[in-house]
Amino acid sequence: MNKRSGSSERLAAIPSVDRLLQQPALVAAASAHGRSMVLDAVREVLAEQRRALKRDASAPASPEELVDATLQRLSAASLPSLRRVFNLTGTVLHTNLGRALLPPQAAEAAKQALVAPSNLEFDLAEGRRGERDSHLEALVCRLTGAEAATVVNNNAAGVLLALSALAFGREVPVSRGELVEIGGSFRIPDVIEAAGCRLVEVGTTNRTHLGDYERAIGPRTAALLKVHTSNYAIVGFAAAVAEADLAAAAHAKALPFITDLGSGSLIDMTLLGLPAERTPRDALRDGADLVCFSGDKLLGGVQAGFVVGRRELVEKLRRHPLKRALRLDKGRIAALEVVLRLSLDPDRARASIPTLRLLGRSQKEISETARRLQPAMQAWCGESATVEVADCASQVGSGSLPVDRLPSAALRIRSTQARGAGAGPDQLARALRALPVPVIGRIHEDALWLDLRCVEDPADEALLSEQLRKSPL
Ligand SMILES: *Cc1c(COP(=O)(O)O)cnc(C)c1O
Repeated sequence: MNKRSGSSERLAAIPSVDRLLQQPALVAAASAHGRSMVLDAVREVLAEQRRALKRDASAPASPEELVDATLQRLSAASLPSLRRVFNLTGTVLHTNLGRALLPPQAAEAAKQALVAPSNLEFDLAEGRRGERDSHLEALVCRLTGAEAATVVNNNAAGVLLALSALAFGREVPVSRGELVEIGGSFRIPDVIEAAGCRLVEVGTTNRTHLGDYERAIGPRTAALLKVHTSNYAIVGFAAAVAEADLAAAAHAKALPFITDLGSGSLIDMTLLGLPAERTPRDALRDGADLVCFSGDKLLGGVQAGFVVGRRELVEKLRRHPLKRALRLDKGRIAALEVVLRLSLDPDRARASIPTLRLLGRSQKEISETARRLQPAMQAWCGESATVEVADCASQVGSGSLPVDRLPSAALRIRSTQARGAGAGPDQLARALRALPVPVIGRIHEDALWLDLRCVEDPADEALLSEQLRKSPL
């Protein structure tokens, strides 16, 4: 076509919406994506074409090109928003990447509960209304030694519910060393306020003594609260009050003692070669009346919050209107039941709960994974970067064991080009995020680190190298 032909002439050459819709590829697309999706995509492609022709004198696209552009648009629009990724950040419980991963049998139980009716709130023996907590309560009690247990949407909800039910309109003393912020928007002072309570700050940031609590207790005090400093540690000239002493101080004034334990591991972490972490059982043994912990941190289940402890207090929580607003759905109850059953036996838990398995992997095993993947990664980078196997340290994440680092191994990718020349760590990281299964690493000291702790399954390893081969940089 004559480059000088007028824009109106070229606009008139654009095929009609109907003509494009009759193209066989788009007829097929309509049965896959639905006619209205295809219609919208065709309209957008034609509008784009019109704008392009008005802007410059390029030749109009052929009908085949317009069909291709429409198909591309459709496949981009049908890509799910929530997608699988490779977590090579070195943080096992990465809140932004979905935290704990379910054992397949727990996911299967969740699926069954979602696709078929169940006895969620139905007593099969009596044929009448049942209680949704009943599916988990006996198991949690057995695992923690508690008298009673309830489950809500997450640990933040558990703390909110406990404070709302037991301390609304009254005071809650908390150590200044424990005014925790967990990533996002969980801040202890805000949660206490949202529960309608008044925070009474006790002691100092680094040192809080029993006498500080005792002086803070008055006629308006409703409960004592201890918060696990999950994601930081106060070291050096520091002092905190032992939980047994806090419990005794609370009980001397007939007040409940609540512990927000955060991660809530149900098995002894030293079995995984990790430092000891207080368990809900430890907290109850030390005199806590209620213990709150997460379902998707060291427990290795799904997003959920357990509140366990004295029966009469748990009953108060259950009767509170917020319980209904914060309750757990059936899929998660089904998944948690499986994870809790697996947790009854520590050896089975370590072998079958992915979070525990990943945390327990040895550096030697991880570096073997790294060595096997190194050639594929080097081939993907080509000349733009060098890929070496290097030692590194993973972390647990999600505010669990903040200080302790787990010896691990990574692929360290360093650009061979001068700074800013187009293949720096940021660009490499972006290209890895654009793979069909996005790969998320960590940038450190001008290199991109891919910690292989979380690539444990041979099928994942194969998928990773296969997509590197198929989509070179
Ligand atoms: C993680 C954590 C929470 C929040 O738990 P979610 O299950 O994420 O709501 C609350 N308190 C402490 C101490 C935590 O570590």
